[in-house]
Amino acid sequence: LRLVEGGGVLFKNVHFSYDGQKEILKDVDFSVTPGTTVAIVGPTGAGKSTILKLLDRFYDVTEGSILIDGQDVHDVDITSLRAHIGIVPQSPVLFDDTVMNNIRYANLAATDEEVFEACKAASIHDQISGFTDGYNSRVGERGIKLSGGELQRLAIARAILKKPAIVLLDEATSAVDTETEQKIQEALHILCEGRTTFIVAHRLSTIMNADTIIVLSDGKVAEQGPHDVL
Ligand code: ATP
Ligand code: MG
Repeated sequence: LRLVEGGGVLFKNVHFSYDGQKEILKDVDFSVTPGTTVAIVGPTGAGKSTILKLLDRFYDVTEGSILIDGQDVHDVDITSLRAHIGIVPQSPVLFDDTVMNNIRYANLAATDEEVFEACKAASIHDQISGFTDGYNSRVGERGIKLSGGELQRLAIARAILKKPAIVLLDEATSAVDTETEQKIQEALHILCEGRTTFIVAHRLSTIMNADTIIVLSDGKVAEQGPHDVL
C-alpha cells in the first residue's frame, strides 16, 4: 500500500501503553481536516508527544486505529509513511557534518539553491551565512554551536525541504526572546501552510494560530475545538 497525498488524519478510539500495563492514551478520538493545524496542549505527562510517536509509527497503537487519508497507518509501508511526514523534534539532533549536509539530508536531491531557499523561509539563512565557513561550517563537538532557537529553525528548514503532507512538531519549551519568537512563528507559518500539522504547543502564539486545539488530560481528550470556543 502506498500513501496518497492529502493528509487527513483520523484517530479512532486509540488506546496505548508503552509497557502493556499503564494505559497512557485512553480512547483518544478525533479527526483532522487535511491542511489544517492542530495544537495539542495539556500538562506534562498527558501523552502529547506520544500522539506524535504513534503517527509516524515509532510505536504502534495498543487498540483502535489511526487513519491517514482513509488508510490505516498499520497497513502503509513504513518508508512511504515516513516520506510523507516531516518531524521537528523538541531537541533536534545534528550530525557531525557541515550545516549544508545536515539540512540536505531531509531531501538528498535538493540543490544548494533549494537549501538556501528553505533556510531563508526558516529565518536561519542569515545566521548560517554569518559563520566563518558559511554553509560549509561543521557542527558538533568541535564545530559551531547553535542556540535552541537556531536549532529549531534549522529543523524547520529541513522539514520545509522535505515538503511532507504532514508535519509533526514538538515545540521547544525553552524561553526565547521576542525577536526569535517572531522568527520561529514566521518559519512555522511557511512550513505549515497547506499541510496537516500537529504541534505540541507551549507558546500562546502557536496556540492562537492553530485551527483546532486538542486539550489532553491524563491520556484523554478533555476538550477540542477552535481557541475562541474553548
Ligand atoms: P511533556 O509535556 O512533559 O513533554 P507529554 O504530554 O509529551 O509530556 P508523553 O511524553 O507523551 O507526555 O508521556 C506520557 C506518559 O508516558 C508519561 O507518563 C511518560 O512517563 C510515559 N512515557 C513516555 N515515554 C515512555 C517510554 N518510552 N516508555 C515508558 N513510558 C513512557
Ligand atoms: Mg512531550
